[in-house]
Amino acid sequence: MSVGSGQPHPRTLREVSETLGPEPSWAPYDRSRNTPLSAVLDYVAGSLQREPVLIWVNGGSPAVLALTGLPDPVAIWSTRHLELSGTLRELVVDRRLEERMRRELARRTILTVVAELALRMGARDAAARSVLLAIGGDVVRPQVTVAMDLEPSAQDEAYVTLWSFAIAHEFGHHVPAGADPPDSVLTGAVTEAFQRMPALAGESAVIATLLDQVRADPEHRNRPHRLRRELVADGFAVETVIEAAGRIMKAGGRTPRPGFLLHELCLAHYQIGLVERCASMARSLARGEIASWEDLQALAGISIRSQFVLGAAAHLLGDGSERWEAAVGAMVDDISAGVGVVDSGLADAMLAVAQRSSDGQLVSVARLRLRDPMRRALVRQQTTAFSRLARQMVTPADDDLLATVIFDVLELTA
Ligand SMILES: [Zn+2]
Repeated sequence: MSVGSGQPHPRTLREVSETLGPEPSWAPYDRSRNTPLSAVLDYVAGSLQREPVLIWVNGGSPAVLALTGLPDPVAIWSTRHLELSGTLRELVVDRRLEERMRRELARRTILTVVAELALRMGARDAAARSVLLAIGGDVVRPQVTVAMDLEPSAQDEAYVTLWSFAIAHEFGHHVPAGADPPDSVLTGAVTEAFQRMPALAGESAVIATLLDQVRADPEHRNRPHRLRRELVADGFAVETVIEAAGRIMKAGGRTPRPGFLLHELCLAHYQIGLVERCASMARSLARGEIASWEDLQALAGISIRSQFVLGAAAHLLGDGSERWEAAVGAMVDDISAGVGVVDSGLADAMLAVAQRSSDGQLVSVARLRLRDPMRRALVRQQTTAFSRLARQMVTPADDDLLATVIFDVLELTA
């Protein structure tokens, strides 16, 4: 325990170092700096009654995670996760682009992320195919970039939530979970989540198989004890963001607007869920499976959690009036429209992966697309993280698909 010392315990730092490995550069976030993030961590310290340690990773895997069982409560956060959350947020809310383009951009972004995650899992072929499928799409547009520190003028509900929801969720994993909601409620919620999915309407045999998967694995993500831990962390994140937004915006002479904050909380939760679904897709591909079983399981857990986040945020931010309830309903409809477009992009990505076109075909299509100089520049930008990682893993002597992609296809963009 390092309360008062202001320094993480050496064992904490050793464990972080082992978890992250030698590749990315990282450091504990310096809370003495007067930044909005410090304001978030101050609030977390008060709630946990312990000094939180935020490990700030430059680049690396697009990950955010908690390390428990250490002398300090730790959350690890990479700049890649922040960037990715910003990009996904834009895809949901940016209505300047027509729907077809946003859907295609979502497909491409998701495939690029899946490629990178698959590569980190050692699945070279799956990674190479995913990146080729991403390049083979139609629409181009520069990637969204997130400013790496908050300007006071930009400290609105959207930015505070983007910067604090994910880390607050991870620190929420340091809150003891208790026994609420009870197992029976959560088991029922999982069954209902499958029954509500349009893709599973009338598919009782498929639903039964999905439920068997949960029962057969004591550590399955949709077992009650694991769902409960996520709900506790989500609840902690909602409270933290609301408090932090109040403090941070007050410093700039502003007060958070409840409807805007509710909107951002729901979006932030959707983004986290989307990154999780990319990770489960990459895991399936790494095992040589089609992604749909894993994704349906991920989707069930995420939909239970989204309902909870919406309820908790609406309760904490609203006055329970009819006017507020109507505003919440309108906001949910609005987000659902944007989310529907990105979810369609995700479905397109899964379909592309499942279609099993030959490696040769994928390579020729990608080559054709990259003849256009504009597209080459954009592809280079979008695949920077993937290429950097892949270059460390292949040599010119390799003759697999990944080597072809790096030395032959993407080299075109150099
Ligand atoms: Zn979590």
